[in-house]
Amino acid sequence: MSPTLFVIALFIFGTIIGSFLNVCIVRIPNRASIVFPGSQCPNCGYSIRFYDNIPLVSYTLLGGRCRSCKTPISMRYFLVELLMGLLMAVLFLHFDLSLVFVLCAAFTAALVVITFIDLQHQIIPDRISLPGIPLGFLCSFFLPWNTWLDSLLGILVGGGVLYMFALGYHLLTKKEGMGGGDIKMLAMIGAFLGWKGALATLMLAAITGSLVGVLLIVLKGKNFKYAVPFGPFLAAGSFCAMLYGERLINWYCSIGAP
Ligand SMILES: [Zn+2]
Repeated sequence: MSPTLFVIALFIFGTIIGSFLNVCIVRIPNRASIVFPGSQCPNCGYSIRFYDNIPLVSYTLLGGRCRSCKTPISMRYFLVELLMGLLMAVLFLHFDLSLVFVLCAAFTAALVVITFIDLQHQIIPDRISLPGIPLGFLCSFFLPWNTWLDSLLGILVGGGVLYMFALGYHLLTKKEGMGGGDIKMLAMIGAFLGWKGALATLMLAAITGSLVGVLLIVLKGKNFKYAVPFGPFLAAGSFCAMLYGERLINWYCSIGAP
């Protein structure tokens, strides 16, 4: 099979995974089972048939509406399928078909679910981040950028640095800043990417997060106090750190060197 066909096949496979991730995004915050029952329209309870469950295609054909009651279905379904398809293609181009690819795809899926739950509910579910910490540690035995010691330090640095920030912020302002969910999520990222990866992630997330924060204040006025969830920035940052972490750290160190 030619590489182009492989990329297309993995994109399609990614959209199918994305379709399953949509189920997780809806059900995990409600503490519901992600296996049973099958998908239903949240408005009329219409059981979604398999032919209405084809990623990207069904949403487009039905015009983003339920077949039965015509209630609009959230754009998120389409976006998550598209995003996961694209990310799988990117991962394949970067890692080829390998065990590292499979582990990174699983990690990416967790990041996508966390991102969309955090955007909607402003929480990062423990059901993903907590098991993610020991799973990330196990992965470190198979990942080229990680030793088990790097991973262990990653958990400590990832969890610890953010905890210090949160504590400092709380002491200074008497306000709740960084959530506990962010701390557990960065500990999971540290387990998977190692301590350097955790720091690179935090740097990227802090830069992009402040840029977006400033942009929102400019666009929505000075009194804009809406808290921007940090999880999506940590997710995007760790995905970039996974692909380019080493180069990023070398570049950063080279600025400091005379
Ligand atoms: Zn319906």
